Amino acid sequence: MTGSVAGDQRAPTTLHTRAEEEPRSGDDDRVGRLAPSPTGPLHLGHAYAFLHAWWWTRSRGGRMRLRWDDGDRTRCRPEFEDQALADLEWLGLTWDGPVVRQSDRGDAHEAALRELSKLGVLFGCQCTRKNLVAQAAPHEGEEVSYPGTCSALGLPGPALRMRVPGSPVEVEEHCARLQDGAAVTRIDLSAEGGPFLVASRTGIPSYQLVTAVDDAAMGVTDVARGRDLLTSLGRQQLIRQRLGLGSVAAAHLPLVVDASGRRLAKRSRDLALSSLREAGVAPRAVLAWALADGPGPDCDFVGASVSEAHRQVVVNYRLPTGRSRVAPSIDALLGRS
Ligand code: GLU
Repeated sequence: MTGSVAGDQRAPTTLHTRAEEEPRSGDDDRVGRLAPSPTGPLHLGHAYAFLHAWWWTRSRGGRMRLRWDDGDRTRCRPEFEDQALADLEWLGLTWDGPVVRQSDRGDAHEAALRELSKLGVLFGCQCTRKNLVAQAAPHEGEEVSYPGTCSALGLPGPALRMRVPGSPVEVEEHCARLQDGAAVTRIDLSAEGGPFLVASRTGIPSYQLVTAVDDAAMGVTDVARGRDLLTSLGRQQLIRQRLGLGSVAAAHLPLVVDASGRRLAKRSRDLALSSLREAGVAPRAVLAWALADGPGPDCDFVGASVSEAHRQVVVNYRLPTGRSRVAPSIDALLGRS
């Protein structure tokens, strides 16, 4: 399938029937989501996160939604959307209901900002990233901590930060904390960067704000994504709490890294899903790799279509453990090494 899909839906013929998808007794109320940002080609790291998000929700009989995280108009391109649709189709990932576009939801984002302002939990901030970095001297890759400079100045914005409580925010996390066993965990936002931006210096609502608001509006109950966003779960949960939007169950998955341990990036095109397709990689090879220990005794993908492979996976699906997953080479995916 190609083309831009504002508000459209995959043809019903490519949707699995519920009976095919849900061999286990499911929880019909689960709603997961795929939320690609059309800012570059999707790569194996995206495939890994999307597959697990899909398996996690589908294995419990839930529905999947698709949302374009296309709020940043300067970086989004229609050709990346077309490519992402082809990637999702290649991987056999289907969705239900209308496609949501974050860029269409500006009014809801503005309303949420007004509501938070009324609650008195925001403050205007005039700090630039540059002077925050200069004050905090963070280590490379570390989040810049906000020292509270503008919190009592009564500035009107346009940049707005949300105050964080002194006590940790409780979240339901099923993956990053699997080793501890408990699904409920606590994120201390005051120790994780402190007050965070909900609107930028140009007045644009932040990732934290739009994600919390849009997940809630779509009825999302399951959020599965890379573990680099675990702290964001605390921020998004805080926003939801303040706005009375309930909570989600989350799974922050191992990050896909290259052989030298670096996270895959949209700019490294060699493991772009479109390159894998062109090289003749079978999608079921990607599915088999994405399962931590391979398909296992109950999943024999040889000769299986991609939808048959998905059906096998969801019967016995378990979330992966660990901090990272090394990406295979194209040769390995082609069965040449
Ligand atoms: N659109 C984001 C991305 O592609 C996903 C954010 C999220 O899952 O909350 O990285």
